[in-house]
Amino acid sequence: GHVLLGGGTGFVGSALKQMLISKKYEVTVISRMPGARRVTWFDVCSSGLPDGVTAVVNLAGQNILDPLQRWTAGFKQNVWNSRINTTHTLAQAIAHAKRKPDVFVTVSGVGIYDPTSDDLFDEYSTISEPFDFLSKLAVEWEKAGKLEDGDVRHVVIRSGVVLGRGGGMIQQMFLPFYLGLGGPIGTGCQPLPWIHIKDICNLFVFAIENPEVTGVLNGVAPQVVTNDEFTRSFAKVLSRPAFFRVPQFALNLLFSEERAKIMTMGQKVCPKRVQELGFQYEYPDINSALKSVSHLIYSK
Ligand code: NDP
Repeated sequence: GHVLLGGGTGFVGSALKQMLISKKYEVTVISRMPGARRVTWFDVCSSGLPDGVTAVVNLAGQNILDPLQRWTAGFKQNVWNSRINTTHTLAQAIAHAKRKPDVFVTVSGVGIYDPTSDDLFDEYSTISEPFDFLSKLAVEWEKAGKLEDGDVRHVVIRSGVVLGRGGGMIQQMFLPFYLGLGGPIGTGCQPLPWIHIKDICNLFVFAIENPEVTGVLNGVAPQVVTNDEFTRSFAKVLSRPAFFRVPQFALNLLFSEERAKIMTMGQKVCPKRVQELGFQYEYPDINSALKSVSHLIYSK
């Protein structure tokens, strides 16, 4: 097969690209920067899908938690456009393609579920009216990927925090934890929906390869943990203490409350449909996932 991969230069996208190549897929990355085996978003807008594409995946998106970016109207617009416009561009290109791909896989976030609720959310849970910026973003992001044409399967993966080397939350937390300065966030009681990078990549491949997979999948591990449990596990695999509690107000000040929510609040999410479909996790529990992630860091 030939996969067209938006955001294939990113943390998750580059890991997925490597996995696809190792499985003998041809991969064309869509990036803002031209290069070998790449096309730009402009190319897709003007010329449509490259020839022979069998699957389209979109993992593009401006990093929301970039601490160097202030949470201004302009930055929020970038966060929005980099997800919704790119996804819409791909949906349009698929609609106009002469030879359709088999499948379109997009990503969205667990932020679509209400973090103030005590419910355990699965893929069958009804989605309430958007209640904040992140939930609105997730709803519109999923809508942007909707296809009129029923012949092309659409799969949406609602991802939790992706744990892996070289990006995402672990990259930001590694140094303070390594120095023994880590600790839980706020009360630490909030759930932390998570998934190992290998498992999310496997889930994308699973969605590409299995014709019976359509609709929403929760891209989270089956084990629900709180921020406290996550912190203790990470400190343990690094053999470090972790009693420096990060106060919620500090994160609100630094990141602005609207996006600090990603860290200070959390949803209880389970991957019910993913498991019903028979997907096998390599890292179903937080201890094995964090052991693998810290092992990779040490052996770098
Ligand atoms: P990255 O921050 O690594 O970025 C992915 C890619 O998006 C970049 O390589 C870049 O490609 C492209 N991009 C960045 N900014 C823009 C922009 N303003 N306009 C167009 N393209 C842009 O993301 P991750 O790999 O961590 O995540 C991939 C997707 O999954 C994102 O949409 C993210 O929201 C979502 N997700 C990630 C989670 C995580 O824990 N990492 C959790 C839940 C969801 P280039 O520079 O080549 O154009």
